Amino acid sequence: MTEGEELTIDDEIVARARIHAREVIDEHDLGLALDALEWRVSARARRRAGLCRWHADREVATIVLARRAYERYEWAEFAAVVRHELVHAWEFQRFGESGHGSRFRELAATLEAPRHCRSFAEPRYVLRCRERGCTWRATRHRASKPVRAPDGYRCGDCGGALEVEHTDSGRTWESASGFGGAKAALGDEW
Ligand SMILES: [Zn+2]
Ligand SMILES: [Zn+2]
Repeated sequence: MTEGEELTIDDEIVARARIHAREVIDEHDLGLALDALEWRVSARARRRAGLCRWHADREVATIVLARRAYERYEWAEFAAVVRHELVHAWEFQRFGESGHGSRFRELAATLEAPRHCRSFAEPRYVLRCRERGCTWRATRHRASKPVRAPDGYRCGDCGGALEVEHTDSGRTWESASGFGGAKAALGDEW
């Protein structure tokens, strides 16, 4: 795929998401300021279909949508992701904070948005052997001990050292301090 084609897909995602957002806001008289809403497409996100970030200084909410989710889901499913993130944006704009509590659930139910942020089937972490020629790997959905401190473990096949990849960002680390660094660097994208 060329860069030009990728741009077109991202433009299409943002355009469709925007139109859908406007419909939802109008239909439910949401009182959500569309001009205080920014849209981004993540080409790298592999786990979360969407997320919403709040910039308190500018009072702007940024909704980030995963290109892979758009490519994989039917539109109805992707539109539900957009509505989920709109609920976050609404909470941010109104209350300066957002979670998945009762206030969130109430509006999510009204908008027929899923309660939980959609995630792909991919595991959150992949453990891999660093030894050349060794293909051992294991997947983890949680930050288990080998994920947090791979330097304390060895490959089950060849005894080689391990590395861990955070699948959503592609970041890798080989030690407990590397884990801490990656986690701190990713912030709310973790
Ligand atoms: Zn959410
Ligand atoms: Zn190995």
